[in-house]
Amino acid sequence: MRILVKGAGVAGLTVAWQLYRHGFDVTIHERAEKIGQGASGFAGGMLAPWCEREGAEEPVLTLGRLAADWWEAALPGHVQRRGTLVVASGRDAGELERFAGRTSGWEWLDEQAIAALEPDLAGRFRKALFFRQEAHLDPRKALSALTAGLEEARMRFLFGPGGDTARYDRVVDCTGAAQIGRLPNLRGVRGEMLRLETGDVTLSRPVRLLHPRHPIYIVPRERNRFMVGATMIESDDAGPIAARSLMELLNAAYSLHPAFGEARLIDTGAGIRPAYPDNLPQVTEDGDTLHVNGLYRHGFLLAPAMASEVARRLFAEHAQPERMAS
Ligand SMILES: Cc1cc2nc3c(=O)[nH]c(=O)nc-3n(C[C@H](O)[C@H](O)[C@H](O)COP(=O)(O)OP(=O)(O)OC[C@H]3O[C@@H](n4cnc5c(N)ncnc54)[C@H](O)[C@@H]3O)c2cc1C
Repeated sequence: MRILVKGAGVAGLTVAWQLYRHGFDVTIHERAEKIGQGASGFAGGMLAPWCEREGAEEPVLTLGRLAADWWEAALPGHVQRRGTLVVASGRDAGELERFAGRTSGWEWLDEQAIAALEPDLAGRFRKALFFRQEAHLDPRKALSALTAGLEEARMRFLFGPGGDTARYDRVVDCTGAAQIGRLPNLRGVRGEMLRLETGDVTLSRPVRLLHPRHPIYIVPRERNRFMVGATMIESDDAGPIAARSLMELLNAAYSLHPAFGEARLIDTGAGIRPAYPDNLPQVTEDGDTLHVNGLYRHGFLLAPAMASEVARRLFAEHAQPERMAS
């Protein structure tokens, strides 16, 4: 069975990976000149189903808790299993209690325990929640590594306009926000982010700073870099970051640690998270096309589960010998 996967964001690449492992003949077509130009390139890469459950339905936890293992099996060494730290400044301490009440899988930390975990946050917060089981990865590195693995396996990549679907038995459409207005009820949720660089603060894990209006998170990357995110705006405008959002993200980073005030601003960006009304992803069928969409805030967290579902459906249709790639 010849399959065309449209879109090389996290959805398309994980689907391609999973289908390759099941022995399918797969071609990937990406409209852009290179991978990672859609929402996936702006993501934090947090694999944080317990924290996300604060505002999400149960499947985000039940499906998302398998994600770190999937990524580790696909890309050994890419997953950092260091948990998530959730803090709030003194006047927002109630936010921490509220967060604890809406989630599970955490433990309370006092000042000493916070300092032991993140020495640079010593003395800055009296209490924190620690989600020990959570993980993170670098999305851009993970997407590049998946692509390299697929190219090594001789999967065909087509870049740029075009993409003749007639030569394929099935199409798996993973084009994300490009389907807004085409797939019923799909909408865009704009997420703005920025990257900072400083050698004056070290974090070992994602830190979420709760705030009633502007909750943010900071995800450490290699080479003294930090991803700071993210706004949540009901819009499919992918234009540059708004000045106000930039100020809010920078303010929040500065309040987490003043050393961020001296950091270099490496870049900013905005991605459109495609979302259905319940903010859960779906695999839907339309003739010969399967659509994987609606990954919302959870592309890296839930794409593996969606990819497995696509493989299950196509495999059931047309059994092929499984090719164990890893
Ligand atoms: C700021 C921000 C932070 C985030 N943080 C996290 C996080 O920490 N953890 C997490 O799990 N998720 C996170 N997300 C969510 C995650 O990024 C998205 O859910 C995910 O990227 C959606 O992936 P996708 O592959 O569906 O879409 P995209 O990444 O947008 O990919 C779609 C691809 O399809 C291509 N395309 C479009 N039209 C066509 C066409 N006609 N033919 C061929 N190709 C086409 C596009 O060029 C694009 O490359 C975050 C999102 C944002 C914006």
